[in-house]
Amino acid sequence: MGAYDYDVAIIGSGPAGIAVATGLVRAGISNIAVFEREADIGGIPRHTHHPSFGLLVFKHPVSGPEFIKKLLKRCPNVQFQTSTTVTAINKAGILEIATPDGIKTLRARHIVLATGAREAPRHPRLVSGLRPMGVMTTGALQQFVYLQNLKPFKRAVIIGTELVSFSALWTLRQAGIKPMAMIEAGPRIKAYRPATIFACLLGVPIHYNSHVVDICGIDRLTGIKIENTDGKKQGITCDGLIFSGDFTGDNSLARASHLELNSKNQIPLMDQNGFSSDPDISVIGNAAHPADMGDQCYIEGLEAGQEIAKVLHNKSPTQAILIEHGPGIKVTSPNMVRVGKKGLVFQINLHVTKAYAGPITVTYHGKVIYRKTRACLPTRRISLKKIRLNAEIPVTDQPVKVMLGQ
Ligand SMILES: Cc1cc2nc3c(=O)[nH]c(=O)nc-3n(C[C@H](O)[C@H](O)[C@H](O)COP(=O)(O)OP(=O)(O)OC[C@H]3O[C@@H](n4cnc5c(N)ncnc54)[C@H](O)[C@@H]3O)c2cc1C
Repeated sequence: MGAYDYDVAIIGSGPAGIAVATGLVRAGISNIAVFEREADIGGIPRHTHHPSFGLLVFKHPVSGPEFIKKLLKRCPNVQFQTSTTVTAINKAGILEIATPDGIKTLRARHIVLATGAREAPRHPRLVSGLRPMGVMTTGALQQFVYLQNLKPFKRAVIIGTELVSFSALWTLRQAGIKPMAMIEAGPRIKAYRPATIFACLLGVPIHYNSHVVDICGIDRLTGIKIENTDGKKQGITCDGLIFSGDFTGDNSLARASHLELNSKNQIPLMDQNGFSSDPDISVIGNAAHPADMGDQCYIEGLEAGQEIAKVLHNKSPTQAILIEHGPGIKVTSPNMVRVGKKGLVFQINLHVTKAYAGPITVTYHGKVIYRKTRACLPTRRISLKKIRLNAEIPVTDQPVKVMLGQ
């Protein structure tokens, strides 16, 4: 295959994909296609109707659909191909796509994976019991309520206490569905503590140190059983069960491709500008760091678009160094840096697996290059700023190490 169909092919039209397209257009690249498997543009914010977007980008809160509408106004003349699923990515910028008109193969000078993150459904959480109707994730609930105007059940229990779990609570309230309880495996909620006030105001009990041990009902869900760490069991009557949070990057395309992955969390390697182990492919947004806020994904995507434009104009990045994380850290973004002759000042964003307060240390070749005491929650992005790799530090195959403590 010879000539390129596009300068850049972006997979996913959420905030990150829209931002990359906007950044590219601003940097003078116009032959861009954005492929979106859904019928509509916008990713997760399409079905998140409460005002939890826009604070960083527009300095005031807006709903998800309003956020996307405003972002699209900043992104003119870009070709969005909806109802089009990218089924494979290959070396040399080759993509296979499934469209309403059939399967096609295309070639782009650069590919961007902006495929987002998804919540863990029931199976990976190893919850036993029957398989009745009424069990879903927050994302699926929001699609029923906001996109199809349907009320899938009358009384629901929410598993999890991340920010998105409170988003599920809000959605239930909007739909006139009674929230029966929230279930948290740990001793405190995973979101900021004031979120408990919202649950309290709605009269929704939060069961701490508890997990679901049984799902009851044959065709339709009739209830669940929970057990706490003291072994005490309790039944809750409900016809809806929402598995919320516990995000993973939607990286099936990357995993089936030639891209190298971080061995601990299977997220594609990506450097400070989003370039993967194949410099012709970038990974941007929540596919790379499940899961940050939509505004953060948008800001990162704008910068990535500008960096991709530089590479297309032949300013290539240089030597790659892996970033390894220690116990208690779920993900770092980037998980690799590329360093030029002048050295590099960069930022690492991370998520912890459980609440932590104490020092965070970054070392390279045994030398401390960052240390600060931080208070971390799993749902909060922690940014380690102004980390410096001097040009005189030898660039070898040793990783930069990020550790809690030390
Ligand atoms: C249920 C839920 C609720 C959330 N609520 C909030 C909130 O209230 N506020 C907030 O700030 N953040 C929220 N988030 C976080 C959310 O992930 C970010 O706000 C933001 O949407 C991430 O942007 P993104 O572009 O990386 O991914 P997404 O918005 O997820 O967009 C990814 C897009 O890629 C498309 N795609 C994936 N694979 C393919 C493929 N192979 N071919 C073609 N298209 C593909 C998907 O259809 C999707 O449209 C929520 C997340 C979830 C799961």
